[in-house]
Amino acid sequence: MTETKHFESQVIHAGQSHEPVTGAVMPPVFLTSTYAQSSPGVHSGYEYTRSHNPTRYALERCIARLEGSALSEEDDASFGGFALSSGMAAVNTVLELLDTGDHVVAMDDLYGGTHRLFNKVKKRSSGLNFTYADLTDLDALKEAVTDQTKLIWVESPTNPMLKLVDLHGIVEFAKDKDILLACDNTFATPALQHPLAIGFDIVMHSATKYLGGHSDVVAGILVTGSKDLAERIRFVHNSAGPVLGPFDSYMVLRGIKTLALRMKQHCTSALQIAQWLQAQKGIKKVIYPGLPSHPQHDIAKNQMSIDGEVAGGGMITFILDGGLEASRAFLENVSIFSLAESLGGVESLIEHPAIMTHASVEPAVREKLGIDDGLIRISVGIEHFGDLIADLEHALSKCI
Ligand SMILES: *Cc1c(COP(=O)(O)O)cnc(C)c1O
Repeated sequence: MTETKHFESQVIHAGQSHEPVTGAVMPPVFLTSTYAQSSPGVHSGYEYTRSHNPTRYALERCIARLEGSALSEEDDASFGGFALSSGMAAVNTVLELLDTGDHVVAMDDLYGGTHRLFNKVKKRSSGLNFTYADLTDLDALKEAVTDQTKLIWVESPTNPMLKLVDLHGIVEFAKDKDILLACDNTFATPALQHPLAIGFDIVMHSATKYLGGHSDVVAGILVTGSKDLAERIRFVHNSAGPVLGPFDSYMVLRGIKTLALRMKQHCTSALQIAQWLQAQKGIKKVIYPGLPSHPQHDIAKNQMSIDGEVAGGGMITFILDGGLEASRAFLENVSIFSLAESLGGVESLIEHPAIMTHASVEPAVREKLGIDDGLIRISVGIEHFGDLIADLEHALSKCI
């Protein structure tokens, strides 16, 4: 059998086989909660959909391979990939691997919902303790880790400041320690970045974003390349039950088929737009990992690439001169960009973190992180970048 070596082929074929009865090239959506047994306890490996579902398995096996898990079906039924009802359900499932009193070190510029789950839920319900550190600085990591630390939770790039974490450095630091390393790979996706290959234990996704890619489904993913961890995650997944339904599994699998193409376009257009923004008057700062001006551009070169070239992803953050007033005028005057939360879809979105996604972060913390009132975040879609630039140019003319 010919191997699918390239990512463009893997997104379509990895972990997939034709449906055995009809030969259907896409898995049918198995909308069933249960499966008939021929004699008590005698079944074909499928008993109940929370535990086993062929459509969900098809998605889980695909993303497991894309993230680089080499587990076999004997090691784990879905090769170490797990599909969950949302990105937050995926984060929560990782926390359920820990015990009361355990300590977690996390990135300071964390997805707002993750921060809320850590601080407002798991601290109280599970007795976990959290320390937030600027993990772009490995000394800050060393300072934050204690004897009780059992998990390091990393996002790279982060949201909305697009900070990058040196994943190799974190792996090097943790190598002889009994600490799980988990990376939220939502912004980079396996098109750009492979935390498991670097030495991370678990990769997490909000598949709502680039994996689904069409802003029409909410889903989460976990992948591990370790047989032992796959067993522990499978146990929680089945026991607590935050599983993704068959139809949504199909939607995400369908989205992933074009992930390679989409990510190339997102990255190419985002670079063009970031370069254009950087040359405009009325813009204080442009943050994009693919620009040499990004403070961690060297890290991007080392861990984010497509076809051997550095790839900065599809998200850009910039700061307008003129603060809140200018931002409002700008955001009211875009028309191709939709003013909306979320990211990673084929359509371009724009948002104001201080008022929208990060409103729940206290003003003092926002200021410390650099979430200025003039700060705008865009998710570059796959429209023609010329049209997107024209839209931004028009909006900019209305606020200066
Ligand atoms: C959206 C998002 C999440 C949460 O995922 P949901 O699918 O909305 O539950 C977690 N991390 C990052 C980086 C995200 O962008």
